[in-house]
Amino acid sequence: MKVLKFGGSSLKNAEAIKQMSQIVSSSESQCCVVVSAIGDTTDELQAIAEQAQKDDESYKESLATLQAFHEKLYQDLTGKEASAELVAAFDHLRRVCGGVFLLKELTHKSLDFILGSGEIASSIIVSAFLESQQLKVKRFDTRQYIVTNGHFGDASVDFASTTNQLNRVSKEFSAINVFPGFVAATATGEMTTLGRGGSDYTAAIIASALDSGMLEIWTDVDGIMTADPRRVKRSHTLDQVSY
Ligand code: ASP
Ligand code: MG
Repeated sequence: MKVLKFGGSSLKNAEAIKQMSQIVSSSESQCCVVVSAIGDTTDELQAIAEQAQKDDESYKESLATLQAFHEKLYQDLTGKEASAELVAAFDHLRRVCGGVFLLKELTHKSLDFILGSGEIASSIIVSAFLESQQLKVKRFDTRQYIVTNGHFGDASVDFASTTNQLNRVSKEFSAINVFPGFVAATATGEMTTLGRGGSDYTAAIIASALDSGMLEIWTDVDGIMTADPRRVKRSHTLDQVSY
């Protein structure tokens, strides 16, 4: 059993998602695939939430653009109309943003729901594409298996329940099992997130709970760089690394 995690930049367009599918389908063992939101979706959702809170009606247009982008990606990858589930995820998101707009109030709890919607959408698209490639794939909603406290925005994991839940559901696993990263829920089912950049953590939680032999964090840079290339212009790839 192997856990593979793909970040937003590794899923940024149809080309990147096809490359991810190649990596996943070449895995010989059963695997869990943890996905981040596509490209810069989380940042865009953050901006949408803030626009809505500031009584700025243009959040509606930004949200419509983001939805159209996701639906087109689904169509380009599968040759089918966006699934009812993808449309429903955006409908629900629109209603929550509508609430933020009306109340001009953005709580950590609302923000968790809004930001985590990116991972829900990306897991729907990725699993639909893998399925269209005739691969044996199942999608699981991480919110049903990773249990946290109610510290919205940066929740702490209850490892005992999480390990239990993941081991229970692993009996239903197919060859490839897709999980949205970043999202989780409280014991009473309220959606939480593990904090920005939390999808790596999701993958590590799953790998640890299932005692899987391998965890791979995929990103779109070949090798390991000396620094984050978005922040450090002179960063470069290391020729060699050692323990
Ligand atoms: N999409 C989330 C973020 O951008 C989580 C992640 O990608 O790890 O923070
Ligand atoms: Mg990341």
